[in-house]
Amino acid sequence: MPTNPEHPTVLHALFGGTFDPIHYGHLRPVEALAAEVGLNRVTLLPNHVPPHRPQPEANAQQRLKMVELAIAGNPLFAVDDRELHRTTPSYTIETLETIRKERGAAQPLAFIIGQDSLLTLHKWHRWQALLDVCHLLVLARPGYNDRMDTPELQQWLERHRTADPALLSRRPHGHIYLADTPELEISATEIRQRRHQGLNCDDLLPRPVQRYIELQGLYR
Ligand code: ATP
Repeated sequence: MPTNPEHPTVLHALFGGTFDPIHYGHLRPVEALAAEVGLNRVTLLPNHVPPHRPQPEANAQQRLKMVELAIAGNPLFAVDDRELHRTTPSYTIETLETIRKERGAAQPLAFIIGQDSLLTLHKWHRWQALLDVCHLLVLARPGYNDRMDTPELQQWLERHRTADPALLSRRPHGHIYLADTPELEISATEIRQRRHQGLNCDDLLPRPVQRYIELQGLYR
């Protein structure tokens, strides 16, 4: 893969998720990652969840609205709702291939995932093709193993791993960066469960998102 030091380009990152709901465990580590590797834009990509998988409690429009409320006024973040507009679900690799075509071959692109997603990445559709399209930036997440499940997967990780953030902007795709981001023990599952039990979620997600959840009567 050629490096192109004469034409430095800005690394653009995408962050997919169900966001049912979006919370500080998504936002804070990504903000820290942005400072760590020099990202000035992160595009959130809410997923279309296929019908055969457990469905989110909030519908697509509500999940999108919560993302919009969470990032309002924060210039680091943007949202791309293309997956939600599709009538059929698309695999992450397909969405990333489309975005790669739109941005051109030279644009450095990265896809952000949590450590838990890295550990199950080999179950994703055409997972090995992900690195042909983007880099992977991995957020630390408490409670998850820092080694892959099998020696083969660990070797795959080591083969592509870089500790040099500058490389991510010099190459369009192909590397894995394990970030040293703060570990926040927050999950959407916990938030939904706390709401079901009538417990408050004050420190877990932004106030405007909490207000929207209240108004819509979500996660009761
Ligand atoms: P759920 O509890 O419903 O499974 P979640 O909180 O894991 O949801 P998702 O929307 O499924 O949230 O996650 C989107 C991405 O964010 C995934 O790659 C996941 O690994 C990552 N992520 C979610 N919460 C954290 C966290 N606290 N720290 C680091 N990464 C996280």
